[in-house]
Amino acid sequence: MGLDIRINLPKPGETETYDVVIVGAGPAGLAAAIYTGRARLRTIVLEKGIPGGQILITDWIENYPGFPNGIAPFELMESFRKQAVRFGAEIVADEAKAVGRDPANPDGWVVRGAKAEYPTRTVLIASHDPVVSESPLVDWVWNLRDGKIEGEAG
Ligand SMILES: Cc1cc2nc3c(=O)[nH]c(=O)nc-3n(C[C@H](O)[C@H](O)[C@H](O)COP(=O)(O)OP(=O)(O)OC[C@H]3O[C@@H](n4cnc5c(N)ncnc54)[C@H](O)[C@@H]3O)c2cc1C
Repeated sequence: MGLDIRINLPKPGETETYDVVIVGAGPAGLAAAIYTGRARLRTIVLEKGIPGGQILITDWIENYPGFPNGIAPFELMESFRKQAVRFGAEIVADEAKAVGRDPANPDGWVVRGAKAEYPTRTVLIASHDPVVSESPLVDWVWNLRDGKIEGEAG
């Protein structure tokens, strides 16, 4: 089988630079992780709650294409999660607190989580939540919720 699954979480004391850090494992974040993982980009998805996002609040999804009889939200989102993991994305339980430039790499970024820091070449905010962009550490964040640049380095 040709599937290349990479599980490369840093060992204690090691620093890992990811190609993509995705904040939020809702439908948007997991869908993005499927694409970036499949493109062989080293991808990590940070999720502060349960992977799946807001859709888990409802009891039945009627309008998702491909499911003429509807589908249970946990079933759908577990499929999203498994597909992202199958392509090598790592889903990590952590809350992103801030995004800033990487002092060790002028072309890179660091996502500062509650538990660890994640150096990366690219940050994708799929959090549906402005908390990340409220930090003074932010140079800029493109919040996918309203599609505008929020925050400028102070
Ligand atoms: C009650 C309800 C019923 C719905 N029913 C339907 C339906 O039937 N059909 C339909 O198409 N849509 C439905 N929706 C809408 C659907 O849920 C949203 O369109 C969808 O969830 C948006 O996905 P998202 O990935 O952009 O954001 P979200 O689903 O909000 O996911 C964002 C994720 O990011 C995480 N996160 C936030 N901040 C951070 C942080 N700082 N660090 C780490 N993680 C973070 C959150 O915990 C969450 O898991 C419903 C919504 C609700 C509330």
